[in-house]
Amino acid sequence: MMAADSGATVLEDKDGAPKMPERKKTKFDVVIIGAGPSGYTAGIYCSRAGYDTLILSGILPGGQLVNTTEVENYPGFENGIMGPDLMIEMRKQTQRMGTTIVDDEAINVDFRQSPFKILTGSEEYEGKAVIIATGANPRKLGLEGEQTFAGKGVSYCATCDGPFFRNQELIVVGGGDSAIEEATFLTKFATTVHLVHRRDELRASKVMQERAFGNEKIKFHWDSQIMDIKGDQKVKQTVIKNIKTNEETTLDVGGVFVAIGHVPNTQLFKNQIDLDEEGYIVLKNKTHTNIEGVFAAGDVHDRTYRQAITAAGFGCMAAIDVDKYLTEKS
Ligand code: NAP
Repeated sequence: MMAADSGATVLEDKDGAPKMPERKKTKFDVVIIGAGPSGYTAGIYCSRAGYDTLILSGILPGGQLVNTTEVENYPGFENGIMGPDLMIEMRKQTQRMGTTIVDDEAINVDFRQSPFKILTGSEEYEGKAVIIATGANPRKLGLEGEQTFAGKGVSYCATCDGPFFRNQELIVVGGGDSAIEEATFLTKFATTVHLVHRRDELRASKVMQERAFGNEKIKFHWDSQIMDIKGDQKVKQTVIKNIKTNEETTLDVGGVFVAIGHVPNTQLFKNQIDLDEEGYIVLKNKTHTNIEGVFAAGDVHDRTYRQAITAAGFGCMAAIDVDKYLTEKS
C-alpha cells in the first residue's frame, strides 16, 4: 500500500510553492516513499549498494498484498504464501540489508532541487535521490450509501472483512481478477455471493473465470450496476439495475465488497511530477520521472502489469537507475 494517501493535503505558500515548516532534518542518500513490493525491493538494492536508505512506509505498510489471501504466482514459494506473510518477509529482508524503515506518512514534498525534501507530520527528511513507490488505492463507486456504510457492510477487502459475514448474502462489484478472487474467497463464509458487473463478460483471466463459473454459490448479475446501498446501523439491502432492461432488483445482503480497480496514490506529487490523465506517474525514460533524481516504481506508474512480481522488478530497476544517477553525480 502506499505511503501517501491519495487524499493527503498538499501544503502550499502564496505562490503555489510547497510550504516547508521548520523541522528536525534527517539526511539520507535515498528516500523511498512507499512499502509495497516495489518499495521494499528498491530498499534492498539501494542498501546493498551501500547507500544510506530510508523507506517511509506510510501508516499501513505492505501495500495491496496485505489485503490478499494466498499468493500463488510469486516465484520462490512452491506452495504459495499468504500476502501479509510475504510482505513481512520482504520487510525483514529489507531491514536486514540495513534500510531504515519509518512507519510514517509523507504529507508534503519539495522536489525543486536536490537534496529533495520529504515531510511527515513530525520530521523533514532529505534525499539525494527519491524513489516514489506509493502504489494505488481501491477505486470507489461514488455512491452516498457507499460512504455511509463504509466499515458497516461496505468493504474493499474480502480478506480482512470476509469472516465477519458468515451465513449472509453478499455482493461483489466488478469483473476483474480482484472481483473474482474476492467473490470466490467470500463463498467460504457467505450463503450466496452476487457478482454485479457492468458488462456481459468478465475482464478476469480465464483460469479465474472458470473457477468462479464452477462455484455454485456465485450468482452473476450481468450488465448491472449498484444504484443504492441501504440499511440502518449496517447494510441491509442493495438496489441493482440492469442497464439494458432498466429493471431494478433489491437484494437483501449484509455486505457489499467493491473491487473495481485502483487509483494511483499521486495526489502528493501533483504540480511537481508529470502525471497522466488518470493520475499515474509518466516516466520519461526507464524509471526516471520528469525530475532528475526522482524515480518511480510499481503500480504508481504501471497501469499494465500491476503484479507483485512486476512491482518488485520495477523497484529493482529504480534502485539500479538511482545508483547510476548518484555515481555520475558524485
Ligand atoms: P481491473 O482489472 O482494472 O478490473 C476492474 C473491474 O472493475 C473491471 O471489470 C471494470 O469493468 C470494473 N469497473 C471499473 N470501474 C467501475 C465502476 N466505476 N463501476 C463498476 N465497475 C467498474 O482491476 P483489478 O481486478 O483490481 O485487477 C488489477 C490488476 O491486478 C490486474 O492486472 C489483475 O490481473 C491483477 N490481479 C491479479 C490477481 C491474481 O492473479 N491472483 C488477483 C487480483 C488482481 P470493465 O471490465 O467493464 O472495465
